[in-house]
Amino acid sequence: MRFDFNCIIPVQPAFLFNMVSQKDNLLFTTTISADLALKLKAKSFTKIFVLVDDNTEEYCLPLIQNALPENSQPIFIKSGEAHKTIGTCENIWQTLTEAVADRQALLINLGGGVICDMGGFCARTYKRGINFWNIPTTLLSQVDASIGGKLGVDFGSFKNQIGLFSEPDQILIDSIFLKSLPKEEIISGYAEIIKHALIKDENMFNKLLDYDLEYINWQSLVPQAVTIKKSIVEQDPGENGMRKILNFGHTIGHAIESYFLAIERPIKHGEAIAIGMIAETSISVDKGLLTENKGRLIIDFLNKIFPKMDINEEAITNITQLAFQDKKNVGGRIKAALLSGIGNGIYDIEITESEIEKSLMSY
Ligand code: NAD
Repeated sequence: MRFDFNCIIPVQPAFLFNMVSQKDNLLFTTTISADLALKLKAKSFTKIFVLVDDNTEEYCLPLIQNALPENSQPIFIKSGEAHKTIGTCENIWQTLTEAVADRQALLINLGGGVICDMGGFCARTYKRGINFWNIPTTLLSQVDASIGGKLGVDFGSFKNQIGLFSEPDQILIDSIFLKSLPKEEIISGYAEIIKHALIKDENMFNKLLDYDLEYINWQSLVPQAVTIKKSIVEQDPGENGMRKILNFGHTIGHAIESYFLAIERPIKHGEAIAIGMIAETSISVDKGLLTENKGRLIIDFLNKIFPKMDINEEAITNITQLAFQDKKNVGGRIKAALLSGIGNGIYDIEITESEIEKSLMSY
């Protein structure tokens, strides 16, 4: 079974599967190898490279191998956020250069958010830009990182400090890849699904309250989450306005992720974002934007799913300072996305150092 996703009308996913748009670059499939083969056949690339890490080489590459031409070339990198660096990019650019890849070459990013972000960045900067396709293989990359064209790498301990905006030429999503994904990675990706619901869809959030993670039908839930992200991104691709609501949980979440990266105890992106959402929900309540009842419902739900992290006073001071590096800040002021209701994200709200500290103290 396969269904094309229309990127223009952000309504119910069921509608979208039946509609085709010219600027459509997203395909949900349950037959990834066959669909990849068809998509490749429709284009002519001088050479195809496939970026994989330790895990996606083992678990995901075999699932698409039949679709790839014989002369395609895998590019191997080590897995994990610690390798999302300019150093790894240099190795990728080196491999492309040694293989004399020209501008009609294609790089397929087969992996999670690290591979999609970094592979896209390498592709769009190599020889001023070659084609790249995303085949996201983690839940997080399927519902978030592979969509929306944010590409880049970390710089020191600063998350995604170096990068650019550029949409992938094609995205193919198949939930089959999630079968080999460890549970903690599923939980990490779930954070972004919850975020999509919290900022845009109260009904979806109410349904999530009843879901048992063990029995979720990803084939149905992933397109719902993607629909929300895609519709927001299409209205504001350059993140000048409402796209910023997608950063709910991320001002404090990214600072938390950077902090743990800096002390060489990296935590999962989704885990950091979950704590960020808890903190930013309590700031929303403290500012009188969100009722206490709704705030409590959200925080209890997140605490039920995500393991509690140890964040001591010293960590709180460091995390608060790191929040000043957030890319959405203006003139040294921290601007965050908060909630003015469930399903109602708002953006460009100034939050202070003491509000961040207080929210983390009460975590
Ligand atoms: P990841 O890419 O590191 O993948 C997590 C782990 O899962 C890795 O060890 C990977 O090797 C393994 N893996 C991947 N697919 C697998 C599979 N099918 N089976 C078994 N193992 C598999 O991390 P992630 O959580 O996917 O993504 C996090 C990154 O995404 C962060 O760098 C974050 O900044 C970025 N991100 C980007 C955006 C964006 O809009 N561009 C949005 C959210 C997050």
